[in-house]
Amino acid sequence: MAKMGTKVCPICGKEFKGLGNICKDGDYCNECEKKVRLVFVEDEEDHLPAAKIRAKLNKYADAIAAYDSIKKPETCPICGKKLPKLMNMRLLDAFICMGCAEKARDMLHTGYAAVGCMCLSEIQPLFGQAAVQGGRADSSGVFHNADALRIVYPLIRTLWVVPGEDGYEVEYIDPLDSLSDEELQAAPALAEQRRAEFEAKYGTHKAIFEVDKITKLYNESKGRRHYRNEYRIGGRVLLGNIALRDQAVVKRAEGTKEFTIRKLGDCREYRSDLKELKEGMEGGLFVEASLSFVYPGDILCID
Ligand SMILES: [Zn+2]
Ligand SMILES: [Zn+2]
Repeated sequence: MAKMGTKVCPICGKEFKGLGNICKDGDYCNECEKKVRLVFVEDEEDHLPAAKIRAKLNKYADAIAAYDSIKKPETCPICGKKLPKLMNMRLLDAFICMGCAEKARDMLHTGYAAVGCMCLSEIQPLFGQAAVQGGRADSSGVFHNADALRIVYPLIRTLWVVPGEDGYEVEYIDPLDSLSDEELQAAPALAEQRRAEFEAKYGTHKAIFEVDKITKLYNESKGRRHYRNEYRIGGRVLLGNIALRDQAVVKRAEGTKEFTIRKLGDCREYRSDLKELKEGMEGGLFVEASLSFVYPGDILCID
């Protein structure tokens, strides 16, 4: 039994005085709270039983004990670039740059706060994926740049359900991650062959784009839709890279039409902030023109 005015912390089992902090099994002590703050996102522990909180504190006991002794390194331990003075993030046992923190957050489908409660050893393995590294090395140590292989192995777009929210996020699977060594080594020659096939079919251009969907854009204001003369042409880059201000030409039986690409976006219809659409990518070309002459299945020659 606890003495008068004292309580027993359900996490560490020690007696304590004062208000304490709430978890599912009652109040716990401030000593535990200090540790809890390092490994739980704010308020996350409020509804957890003491045993669960204790298990997590035990799991990270070494990192918690060493927390204050961790110094900022010169370079980011993930990407190896110089660690910026401000644009960095504290993990439980390390500092990483914000660029890597953002990638980790996206790959884990979580927030920065949750990333900050993890150890470097939990995050680093994610960065072995080809899409993150920009390619993959084969067993002989030759690095194969992903951009050069996307014509044969484009990223596979899937949807990921956001828990607790009525929505989806786009998620990409990189087929390069699951290639055998033989397949990876054969890929550059396959890519060259595919490029030659497209050139033979469509002629020599900066890029070739295959249209699959045309969307007229609108502004929404006070519940009304205001259409404007802007369209998004969705599809994929079959060959080459497309940049802002490139000219697109569509040839049809009734004649040739040309228009300027104003903006570029990825597969999400509301995004138009890319500077480049690379070979093999799905995405959108934004144009300001009346677009009564482009249809799904059309091939755009970009120059
Ligand atoms: Zn305690
Ligand atoms: Zn980094």
